[in-house]
Amino acid sequence: MANDIHKVLIIGSGPAGYTAAIYAARAGLKPVLYTGGQPGGQLTITNDVENFPGYPEGVNGPQMMVDLQKQAERFGTKVNYGVVTSVDFSGYPHKVIVDEKDEVIAETVIIATGASAKYLGLPSEEKYANRGVSACAVCDGYFYRGKEVAVVGAGDSAAEESTYLANLCTKVHLIVRRSEMRASKIMQKRVEHTPNIEIHWNSETEEILGDEDGVNGVRISNNKTGEKKVLPVQGFFLAIGHKPNTDVFKGYVDMDETGYIKVIPGTTKTNIEGVFAVGDAADRVYRQAITAAGTGCMGALDAEKFIVAKEMEMAQ
Ligand code: NDP
Repeated sequence: MANDIHKVLIIGSGPAGYTAAIYAARAGLKPVLYTGGQPGGQLTITNDVENFPGYPEGVNGPQMMVDLQKQAERFGTKVNYGVVTSVDFSGYPHKVIVDEKDEVIAETVIIATGASAKYLGLPSEEKYANRGVSACAVCDGYFYRGKEVAVVGAGDSAAEESTYLANLCTKVHLIVRRSEMRASKIMQKRVEHTPNIEIHWNSETEEILGDEDGVNGVRISNNKTGEKKVLPVQGFFLAIGHKPNTDVFKGYVDMDETGYIKVIPGTTKTNIEGVFAVGDAADRVYRQAITAAGTGCMGALDAEKFIVAKEMEMAQ
């Protein structure tokens, strides 16, 4: 309801947001959660999740998010569909504007807005999403064991994902757009010394090819010689970086140069009292559903502690 002061406001509906909601709700804090523009987050664009502990047969990503929402609601979380369009963290309590019109006020805010993988922008990426195109080797690599795959990118993610996939796949083609990699020297060495990784330098992805069964090739073009070739791959992995969904908090919450929110190590505390950051929005390294859920739990516990301390302060 407008102008009620909520104890806990959670922004985002991935594993981090819903886990924060489950913990805050079970602590009797009646959290309110705004889903954002992609309710359920990145897992809603994944088919099978096989690495979340507790699911021996794996779990369908969208189903997992429906289950997490139900679990959060069961303990009293109010889930609202809406996008936070601006915030005012200059005073206390904190103010958040949803869908450019509704003001929501809360003692604590848990930011769980996640990150989005960057894509090249080819129509074929969308066409074959979940049918050969993936932005997470750790999540989906297992489905390509014994097959040939390509990875695009030249940073630490591309290096790490290529070596990870090389353990599972017959061959990995690494598509690098310049004549050098940005990845750290040690990770590049690992790539170069892995016999089943072939690096295609100065190469750009023109098109991902496929049919009704999914991806069956990728056409690349050498930007120095103009030579084109088709790599016979069944999987195409993007590793060209992620963008944290944190633009709306700029100017208030401290972030690194790419927009990941800075937290006090070992906690979810940001530079603003009562504002906590969890999940991929504050994690440039691990970016897994299970780590997001773990920090979501931490965020709820940190928020609870903050509220109790504030109440004791007021009572004195
Ligand atoms: P980065 O931003 O470091 O690298 C992105 C790479 O993608 C660049 O090499 C870039 O090429 C390439 N790229 C960008 N756009 C395109 C495009 N349109 N077509 C082709 N290639 C493109 O992202 P990462 O995800 O690799 O890393 C992010 C951060 O996380 C880094 O700080 C990294 O060190 C860290 N990290 C650390 C790990 C570890 O330590 N284990 C593992 C993974 C990440 P170009 O070089 O030409 O600009």
